[in-house]
This record gives sequence, structure tokens and C-alpha cells, in this order.
Amino acid sequence: MVDRSYDLAVIGGGIIGLATAMKLTADYPSLKVAVLEKEDKVAEHQTGHNSGVIHAGIYYAPGSQKANFCSTGGKLLRDFCDARGIEYDMCGKLIVAVTDDEIPRLEELYRRGTENGAEGLRMVGKEEIAEIEPHSAGVKAILSPNTGIIDYQEVSQAYASELGENGGDLLTGAQVRSMERRDGLVYLDTTVGTISAKYILNCAGLHADTVAKMMGVDIGVRIIPFRGEYFSLIPSKAHMVKGLIYPVPNPDLPFLGVHFTRRVNGSVEAGPNAVFALAREGYSKTSFSFRDTFGTLAYPGFWKMSAKYWKVGFNEQYRSAVKSVFVKSLQTLMPEITGDDLGDPGAGVRAQAVDRNGQLLQDFSIAETENAIHVLNAPSPGATSSLSISNYIVDIAEKSFGLDAA
Ligand SMILES: Cc1cc2nc3c(=O)[nH]c(=O)nc-3n(C[C@H](O)[C@H](O)[C@H](O)COP(=O)(O)OP(=O)(O)OC[C@H]3O[C@@H](n4cnc5c(N)ncnc54)[C@H](O)[C@@H]3O)c2cc1C
Repeated sequence: MVDRSYDLAVIGGGIIGLATAMKLTADYPSLKVAVLEKEDKVAEHQTGHNSGVIHAGIYYAPGSQKANFCSTGGKLLRDFCDARGIEYDMCGKLIVAVTDDEIPRLEELYRRGTENGAEGLRMVGKEEIAEIEPHSAGVKAILSPNTGIIDYQEVSQAYASELGENGGDLLTGAQVRSMERRDGLVYLDTTVGTISAKYILNCAGLHADTVAKMMGVDIGVRIIPFRGEYFSLIPSKAHMVKGLIYPVPNPDLPFLGVHFTRRVNGSVEAGPNAVFALAREGYSKTSFSFRDTFGTLAYPGFWKMSAKYWKVGFNEQYRSAVKSVFVKSLQTLMPEITGDDLGDPGAGVRAQAVDRNGQLLQDFSIAETENAIHVLNAPSPGATSSLSISNYIVDIAEKSFGLDAA
């Protein structure tokens, strides 16, 4: 027996699933759309545990989807927030070279950022660094005035409200457990009953590969969870960070290195690192899922990735286990910071798609299969880019599913 029927079911109520459902219901008013979210609230995983930065699009390879989605997405996001009174703060960011050796990589980043259209970038020297961020180290830095901070959970809730106003359904507490294709429809067995849909949009983040597998699709990648751990600065030290202070990142890795991030609520986070997590939703060091860990260890791509990056992985694990090592890496950016300045710990988990050859997918990856679209890799700047990603997915849906706006 079918409890509910839809034209299109979006699996996952994170920022990308909600943005896309909102756009679909705005552009195709007669399309019956539901978002199925397993948690009781939207944006409880990557979206609700991210750094809250509106990126300007500096780091990404020119021509990549990251570069393109970020530069258009940041503007769309700010317009959306302006129209709905959602608070954000374009507080600006410094990417800081702390030694002369890092300057060539900083200059390459500047060239990339300029090519990507990141607005207002400027190289600044030691004196200006001290004026902008008096407690930061640095011999040279890129100043990005067009980088800001926001609460992506609030943004997601606004997308969900607009979805509702457009006539779409948001079903929370609705975990998709399995799917079956029959007579041109997909039947989803969920914790709130059986749902049928003509089309599926897989936006399941940390579970995107599992959801694809439920549809019998081999997507050629596995999601490997990486926990990003951080500490909040104690309130009396939050004044030491005015905006955002980042290091020059390792160009081989999709992570930006530990940094200082001011949040819209006035707190400051120091981190995150990137350690292999033993559970897809493993927010603490002791989180463990036999299923997730066994699945990862059985995946040949995991071992190839580990062989390539074992040294980086070892250093990250060491920094995670020993707080003084974490503090030491923060001190390269801010020499005055001590362990006593660090307060509550927190963490987010990144869904990193890894292929069978052990390559970490650097760019977004969105794949089509019969009557379905799968968002397989949506790393940072996925939240900044949510509205441009949604436009891209809706374009694919229009062509592949033959959607009719009438
Ligand atoms: C530590 C960290 C820091 C980041 N910092 C930034 C940043 O500063 N700026 C930026 O732009 N981006 C940042 N990102 C990236 C950004 O957060 C992600 O790109 C974005 O949140 C991805 O959204 P999503 O909707 O794909 O995934 P998610 O937010 O993870 O949503 C997926 C949803 O699917 C649901 N789900 C999964 N399986 C099922 C199922 N079987 N049935 C029903 N529901 C299911 C989950 O419960 C979840 O709510 C960061 C990411 C992390 C992890």
C-alpha cells in the first residue's frame, strides 16, 4: 500500500536538497515534490556542523564547478538573505603566509582567485596584516573583503519555509530504508510509510553512496567520512579574531588547514583538522559504527588513498590525539594562543567521495541515472553555492525528466 505519491522525492534535508526542492517547486508549480529527511529537523549533519563561511571562490581550479558555483552562489545567497532579513556579515578574510617559503603558493592563490572573479582581492604586507588582525602572524597575506559569515541552519530553515509556501512537503523523521523500481515508479520504504515517486533526487550527503546503492546504482565512489575537530576560543579571548584567518593550504588536499573563524553569534572557532572518522555521523572521538568502518576498510580505494596520504593522515591523527600539537599548529597563525584559551570542543563530519584508485574527488560530482540525479560529492563551498547548485540540478532535471513548467 502506498501512503503518499509524489512526482519527485528529494532524499536529504540538508542545504542542497532543500535549495533544489525550493527551486523545483518555484519553477514547476504543478510538480508534487517532497523532501524526506531522516532527522527530526533539517540541516542536522554537514550543513549544521560547518564553519559558516560565505566563501569568495579563491582556492578553486579556474573553470571547475567549485569556482563557477561559488562565485555565482555567493551573490545569490546574499540576495536571498537580503530579501528575507537573514543576518550575515561580510567580515573579510586573510589568507596568511607565515614564512617566505609560502609566498609563491600565496601568489598562485591570488592569481587563481583573481581568475575566478573573487572581488576586491588585495595582497597586504606585514604592517597591514597587523592593522587588520592585530594578533595574527604573517609576512604577506591575501585580503578577501568579499568573504563573510552566516548561519547555514537558518538559511536552510528559510529554504524549507519557502518550499512549504510553494506547496512542497517536508517530511522529517522520514528515513529511506530501501527502494524498489516497479512499473515506471520508485517505491520508497521509509520510517513514515511507503512513498512512490516518478523521480528521485539523492542529496543524502554522508549517505549518498548508500542511497544510490539502494537504487541498484554503482556510482564508482565511496563516501569516506572525515571528522573536522575544533575548539571555541573562551569568550574573553574571542576579541583576538576580528574576521577569518586562514593559512596557505596544501594544494593536494581538499581541506583548507586549521584556521580561525568568527561566527555570526560572536564566538570564534579554531580548527578544524581532518581525521578519518569511524562512523559517518561520528562527531566524537569515540563514535564507532561497525557497518561504516567495515565498509570503508573493505573498499580498495580507501587503502590506495591511505598509501598516498599516510603521512598527512598520521600527522592529523597525532594532532587530534595531543591537544598541545593542535595548539602548536594554531600558534603558527596566532603565536599568543595557548591551550588555556581554548574552550568547548566541537566537530563536523565531511562526506568525502573517494574513487577506486584512492583519488579524493576535489570538485562537486553530480551524476544522472534512470529517473534519478545523485549529488555524490558536495564539499566546501557547497553551502555558499547551494543556490547555484540547485539551478544546475534543476536544469538537468528539466532535460532528463522532461519537466513541464505548465
Ligand atoms: C566541517 C565542515 C565545514 C564546512 N565549512 C563550510 C563553509 O564554511 N562554507 C561552505 O560553503 N561550505 C562548508 N562546508 C561544506 C557544506 O557544509 C556542504 O557542502 C553542505 O552542507 C552539503 O549539504 P548537503 O545537503 O549535501 O548535505 P547534508 O547537510 O549532510 O545533508 C544530507 C541530509 O541527508 C539526510 N539523509 C541521509 N540519509 C538519509 C536517508 N536514508 N533518508 C532520509 N534522509 C537521509 C541527512 O540526515 C542529512 O540531513 C563544510 C562542511 C563541513 C563538514
